Amino acid sequence: MIHFRVVDHPLLQRDLTILRKKETPHGVFRSVLSNAAAILAYEAMRDLKTESIPIETPLEPTTGYRIAEEVVVVPIIRAGLGMVDGFVRYVPEARIGHIGMYRDERTHQPIDYYINIPGGLETARIFVVDPMLATGGSASEAISLLKKRGARHITFVCLVAAPEGVQHMLRTHPDVPIVAASLDRELDENAYIRPGLGDAGDRIFGTEGEHET
Ligand code: URA
Repeated sequence: MIHFRVVDHPLLQRDLTILRKKETPHGVFRSVLSNAAAILAYEAMRDLKTESIPIETPLEPTTGYRIAEEVVVVPIIRAGLGMVDGFVRYVPEARIGHIGMYRDERTHQPIDYYINIPGGLETARIFVVDPMLATGGSASEAISLLKKRGARHITFVCLVAAPEGVQHMLRTHPDVPIVAASLDRELDENAYIRPGLGDAGDRIFGTEGEHET
């Protein structure tokens, strides 16, 4: 199995370019991210199991197929939420779990503050989604948490990956394939991916430059 794959598709590369551009407004950013996520989902779900079913066309009986696995999508809050729409476009029956994490400012370790995951993880195909794979800390922690709850078939899907994050994931979860739209150059001293696209959460939700009141 290939454990890190960059999806090389003209429509995805066009969408990623729009997402990278600093002048892209958040409404456009949100809808283009949703489209990019749908393309990534299409590729990440390439090996879903199907089973044949008898059906009838208007002309004659034939064989059709249905998805034979339960699909669970788990966004890492906050930015992962921006990929959910695109992911469920092809599998509206997918269940959605949520994992909320923040980084402890002193230890720099990811701390989970919200977990709500559907049952049946043992047999489900689970897609953990977050647009940015930066240090890999949150992704790795989220996957450990799912494995502790019985998850066995996990794929991690992101838009932009940093080499540091990919290395961390391959070290901590060598069994989890990673699907991305781009492998970028590096992480900077503030753990931003370069060239990247900035803070994905702020760009999705239009919170850049906002102040808490
Ligand atoms: N998270 C982001 O939103 N952007 C980065 O560049 C890195 C982590």
